[in-house]
Amino acid sequence: MGKSVKEILIDGNGYACIQCGRCTGSCPSGRECSLRTRKLIHMARMGMDVIKTEELWDCTTCFTCQERCPKEVKTTDMIIELRNLAVEEGYFPTMSDVPKIIIKSLYDTGAGQPLSPEVSKIRAIIGLKKEAYDVSTNAETLKKFQRLLDGLEITKKGGLR
Ligand code: SF4
Ligand code: SF4
Repeated sequence: MGKSVKEILIDGNGYACIQCGRCTGSCPSGRECSLRTRKLIHMARMGMDVIKTEELWDCTTCFTCQERCPKEVKTTDMIIELRNLAVEEGYFPTMSDVPKIIIKSLYDTGAGQPLSPEVSKIRAIIGLKKEAYDVSTNAETLKKFQRLLDGLEITKKGGLR
């Protein structure tokens, strides 16, 4: 069992937040979607259903907000932990297929980020293997990895099995 929202706030220095909004103002994802970092911290502190909000999944974990926070609030770390808690509690994002694609790729190949054909081509040109991460090149290791994911019920929670 992971941390509670309160424990995540304590460990992430979330109670030091002064709601200045610098995190939201510097968030590249927030310019393109409804993600508001300051609001997520506020929701967590107010005991609102922050783990149910789909905005939690719009963060690209670029760490800009965390680096720029004047109160050293670990915003990105907290978002990651809130996501962990959300999945643990069964709140998996539904707004896009991206998380499912990532989990499927992770399960099938060991790599969460499938490489595009273009990148694979460039890798081949410069003498690298086609796939960046190669759990999949060892069938036994991949099987062990898949058993681990099954044990954690990641695919089940992601609606893939
Ligand atoms: S930048 Fe830091 S202090 Fe300001 S709102 Fe964001 S988390 Fe709070
Ligand atoms: S880590 Fe997430 S919330 Fe913070 S600036 Fe980057 S995308 Fe925005």
